[in-house]
Amino acid sequence: MKNDPTSRPVDAGGAAPAKHFIRQIIEEDLRANTHGGRVVTRFPPEPNGYLHIGHAKAVCLNFGMAREYGGECHLRMDDTNPTKEEVEYIESIREDVRWLGFDWGKHFYYASDYFDKMYECAAQLIRKGKAYVCGLTAEEWSKDYRGAPPAPGRASPSRNRPPEESLALFEEMRAGKHPDGSLCVRAKIDMASPNLHLRDPVLYRILHATHPNTGDRWCIYPTYDFAHPLEDAFEGITHSLCTLEFEVHRPLYDWVIENLDGLPSRPRQYEFARLNLNYTVMSKRRLLELVQEGRVRGWDDPRMPTICGLRRRGYTPESIRAFTEVIGLTKYESLSDVARLEHGLRDDLNKRAARRLAVLNPLRVIIENADALPASVNAVNNPEDESAGTRPVPFSSELFIERDDFMENPPPKYFRLSPGGSVRLRYAGFLTCTRVEKDAIVCKWSPPEAGLKVKGTIHWVSAKHAVPAEIRLYDRLFTVEDPLAQAAAEGKDYHEFLNPDSLVTVAGFVEAGLADVRPAERFQFERLGYFCADPDSTPGKLVFNRTVTLKDPWAKAAGKR
Ligand code: ATP
Ligand code: MG
Repeated sequence: MKNDPTSRPVDAGGAAPAKHFIRQIIEEDLRANTHGGRVVTRFPPEPNGYLHIGHAKAVCLNFGMAREYGGECHLRMDDTNPTKEEVEYIESIREDVRWLGFDWGKHFYYASDYFDKMYECAAQLIRKGKAYVCGLTAEEWSKDYRGAPPAPGRASPSRNRPPEESLALFEEMRAGKHPDGSLCVRAKIDMASPNLHLRDPVLYRILHATHPNTGDRWCIYPTYDFAHPLEDAFEGITHSLCTLEFEVHRPLYDWVIENLDGLPSRPRQYEFARLNLNYTVMSKRRLLELVQEGRVRGWDDPRMPTICGLRRRGYTPESIRAFTEVIGLTKYESLSDVARLEHGLRDDLNKRAARRLAVLNPLRVIIENADALPASVNAVNNPEDESAGTRPVPFSSELFIERDDFMENPPPKYFRLSPGGSVRLRYAGFLTCTRVEKDAIVCKWSPPEAGLKVKGTIHWVSAKHAVPAEIRLYDRLFTVEDPLAQAAAEGKDYHEFLNPDSLVTVAGFVEAGLADVRPAERFQFERLGYFCADPDSTPGKLVFNRTVTLKDPWAKAAGKR
């Protein structure tokens, strides 16, 4: 079945995924045998932050295409920039890609592994007269010499330096004989090109900095534009998929590949629109800012759009993969709706999350006919999955119900509990409120067989058995859809749009069976939403995150929740 387009997986709904333009390109290449029938992609993060949901789109695309077409996907740390990378990030990236469900096999690489070969490539270009060592400062270069289209730029005074002289200087640069910024290697392309990236771009610069991988072995480092096509070529990448901002760099990418002899392969770059999500910010720089300023509790704060944040929040990898597929792959920028991500998550959790009872805002109920009560009732674990079975839930003469499931002076059509009124207790018969006391209400209990005519059903826990839990309720991190754009348009600081209520913590109770819950276990708390146990949980103190609210017909009938 290898390389057979008809073997593409089908999603849970049974429909084959849309044939977006990258699929079309790959299938055409396979038909034409462009790369000898191979599909090799790569995900090349710069290890300077944690991955976010935008990266998930690139991860799912690169690993997904390789999987679909019987190819391979490399995980490559793009560590050409020595000053920024941190080892902590590398581990997190590996963990996140694995959690998303992908495997790079033996293809884990560092761009810095290729520094020797890259140096050789630059030397080859110099020898061929296609690159030179330039003595202009970055300031001089980017302001006066490069120019602004349509006007052409001016040639560097070093542009016609003889290759032998440039080579000797390049050697000296490598040997550490020159200070940062004093010299650089430039490609000799076209100072009149309408594309600024072709106006003799920098290929190598001097940076006396210790690199996490290569230590002090190098004091010159390749630029991204030079390094990236080479990394792809060395690894035999066939389809180099990247986001649209690299489209204008593609002519340089191709120039590097075409002007070097002896490269093992001829990769091609294709661009797609990045994923943007509303009510959040997505660049690593901004996310780092939020962490460093203490606006959130860390990279894995459940309000963050990072993969580790979504994981802690209770997202499933399946729902993230499905989301990156349904939003499609295009060539134009857009803002995706986080509600769509949540919609898919609910679908997924509805199928797999065990149902449990919990009360977030407790009101004590005292049952006056205590003698009539069963010690426990039987509750269904998952109505969507019969094999999940049932469980006993302890019952007693003291319950907690939600404070807003009772009203002393109810408006018309209030179907929950009120003085003299009755309501169904989920799995446990009926309650009729007989009296209101200062800190509790007193009720009479009736068994299910009593068949009282009621319109509402409420959830509960036994106050004598329930376990206290800290429950963290999350909302959007920002109050507006596109905080950075809106801040720019209104001349404001984007921090002004941080949602002060993005985290509300309540002291609730969960049913006794949850006492020994394991972190990351997911549940539906009936009528309340989907929740997962947080790693902050200890046997003495349970902590749950609300993953997503529930769109629930009962709750709708019963009012806002
Ligand atoms: P950021 O802009 O958030 O700092 P980045 O682009 O600098 O991210 P890299 O580590 O360079 O992050 O990205 C690795 C890969 O992920 C690149 O191929 C990049 O194109 C892709 N990528 C980054 N952000 C997005 C996004 N929002 N949507 C889709 N792909 C993305
Ligand atoms: Mg980047």
